Amino acid sequence: MTDIIDAPAAAAANTLTQERKVVTAIPGPKSVELQQRRLAVVPPGVSSALPVYIAKAHGAIIADVDGNQFIDLGAGIGVTTIGHTDQGVVDAAAAQLGDVTHTLFTITPYEEYVRVAELLAAHTPGDFAKRTVLVNSGAEAVENGVKIARKHTGRNGVAVLDHAYHGRTNLTMAMNFKAAPYATGFGPLAGDVYRAPNSYPYHDGLSGTEAAARTIGYLEKTVGAADLACLVVEPIQGEGGFVVPADGFLPALQEWCTANGVVFIADEIQSGMARTGAWFASEHFGLVPDLVLSAKGIAGGLPLAGVTGRAEIMDSAQPGGLGGTFGGNPVAAAAAVAVFEQLESGEGFAAARRIESTLVSGLTALQERYDVIGEVRGIGAMVAIELVQPGTAATTKAPNAEAVNAIVAHAAQNGVLVLTAGTYGNVLRFLPSLAISEELLLDALAVIEEGFARLGA
Ligand SMILES: *Cc1c(COP(=O)(O)O)cnc(C)c1O
Repeated sequence: MTDIIDAPAAAAANTLTQERKVVTAIPGPKSVELQQRRLAVVPPGVSSALPVYIAKAHGAIIADVDGNQFIDLGAGIGVTTIGHTDQGVVDAAAAQLGDVTHTLFTITPYEEYVRVAELLAAHTPGDFAKRTVLVNSGAEAVENGVKIARKHTGRNGVAVLDHAYHGRTNLTMAMNFKAAPYATGFGPLAGDVYRAPNSYPYHDGLSGTEAAARTIGYLEKTVGAADLACLVVEPIQGEGGFVVPADGFLPALQEWCTANGVVFIADEIQSGMARTGAWFASEHFGLVPDLVLSAKGIAGGLPLAGVTGRAEIMDSAQPGGLGGTFGGNPVAAAAAVAVFEQLESGEGFAAARRIESTLVSGLTALQERYDVIGEVRGIGAMVAIELVQPGTAATTKAPNAEAVNAIVAHAAQNGVLVLTAGTYGNVLRFLPSLAISEELLLDALAVIEEGFARLGA
């Protein structure tokens, strides 16, 4: 008898109301007290964007210990894509917790891992035999993708793009564009990582073909395809500021990789799992990556990540070469199955398109009034605005991190959590859960608009 769990209690609905509510100063007194306790025991290397301590979360709302309710435009950086405490996820995880919490797949396996692999095979681009290895975090997925590509090709080189972000482990900190804060002082960094120009239409003005020729030319000169195991790209860059490459850029890179035996790896950790209105953002660009990395949104908030790819590449790793104690944990895997099932209904994709249309039209209207908004860009529920210094939108497009910080602070004081991004900290990114209602989204936009109106004041 393994399934004796208190089913009604496990499935108790989270009834947090879907409304913005500010009842204390932000942060409130209880959060301030918790922050004091935290500072005594948690190092500053782990920082928090907004030190309000969250007690409950549901849908698109997070509620703090002081009773304030924030509209969450960050979703834990694109993790709670189908909403906080989605009932399907809660039920699946609770039931799994009572059945099997852990065995270690590499000792005695279980169905949930296999099911997630089947679902990833079905929903990642490409109609060919695929395999999936499950791990715990995005960075670990990147590390494993590189390991597998190296084993398959017998080469060492790893190519990445300007403005990329791939994680905080030793290899991935060498793959990030920004040294600070991710790598400063944490060396020695891994070698054989080569960074090439990306496509950033707002700044480089290049067509996809031109940008790809620049990237490929750079890689051929500085490394040479014969020494490259893989090229790792985010189809839409996340931390880099939701940079959407020019049409044709990514397909040209992929073609070059294929022609030269370089494994093309799409880091879909932030852009995947329906966020952009497609299962994976690669689809918007007609890409069929050799390997796809997923994490963040895959398990509704539980830690899970995966490397999915062509069987002949994935099968090159020797038995025992891949895995880890918690990788593909049954509870996280059961939650992921629930996320896939919810998304298979199609509602999430429609929501992503609705969110894009509301955000892009709302933010474009703001851009017409505030010349610090240089560009509105993004796809689905992955939309950003890049802020520039007043009067520079048509010229230097000089980054304006101060304005971003002022808007974020105004939003926080008024019950809206919005995140920053961009190499220069001058991008406001909107990655709400697909569960956000039109009403909440418009309410959040109104708060952001007030923030812009106060900028000059
Ligand atoms: C968040 C992120 C990672 C790292 O994932 P972690 O789970 O934080 O290790 C890697 N790549 C991209 C594109 C990401 O957004």
